[in-house]
Amino acid sequence: MTEAVLQTTGLRRSFEQGGVTIEVLRGIDLTVGRGEIVALLGPSGSGKSTLLQAVGLLEGGFEGSIRILGTEAAQLPAGGRTEMRRDRLGFVYQFHHLLPDFSALENVVLPQMIHGATRAAADARAEALLTTLGLGRRLTHRPSQLSGGEQQRVAVARALANRPALVLADEPTGNLDETTADIVFAEFLRLVRDQGSAALVATHNERLAAKMDRVVRLHEGVLE
Ligand code: ADP
Ligand code: MG
Repeated sequence: MTEAVLQTTGLRRSFEQGGVTIEVLRGIDLTVGRGEIVALLGPSGSGKSTLLQAVGLLEGGFEGSIRILGTEAAQLPAGGRTEMRRDRLGFVYQFHHLLPDFSALENVVLPQMIHGATRAAADARAEALLTTLGLGRRLTHRPSQLSGGEQQRVAVARALANRPALVLADEPTGNLDETTADIVFAEFLRLVRDQGSAALVATHNERLAAKMDRVVRLHEGVLE
């Protein structure tokens, strides 16, 4: 069975602001296959984050269909959406959103424990991921004791910890200098590929987009 990891059909999202309706997404049809890494390219304000938030089941308020691994998101109860996010999706944001009072290791262990892993298994997986990302000697550091690039690597490890079917990344290296961004981005892509996850990665950077399997462009609320 070659069921898509993600399929949106006629996805629409608009916002009311001061009595004016802004149509941000105006009918998005997007399919991401298993293990496929897709760049979502568009300038600032084109609706990339809005699309990722809808697909990440973080917000309602959209029209149309979002199917994740064949399940219609709108038909899931709130608990089912939470489970879908926890078990099938991984998130990387532009700003890392790490828990400030926990170590790098703990930030990667926690989602696995919530997922049902034992502490020992979660520790081993977190250590392996962080070591692969060059942070083997930063395991007990807190986010504030890490550089921006290191923090973003921890965020990558956290997103991949539960081997999600689909990784959603919103400008994952957008806050880093170009050299660091290139390195972290390459590591991110290699890890995603190695574990066979699919990914939808928002970026306004053509150069990063070209490194992915396919590029879709968001323009005036639709994909070109
Ligand atoms: P991008 O991530 O591509 O920069 P966004 O998805 O953040 O774009 O925003 C797309 C458009 O939607 C922008 O014009 C923004 O002002 C508008 N928008 C996003 N979120 C909201 C919101 N919660 N309320 C009102 N307008 C919003
Ligand atoms: Mg954005």
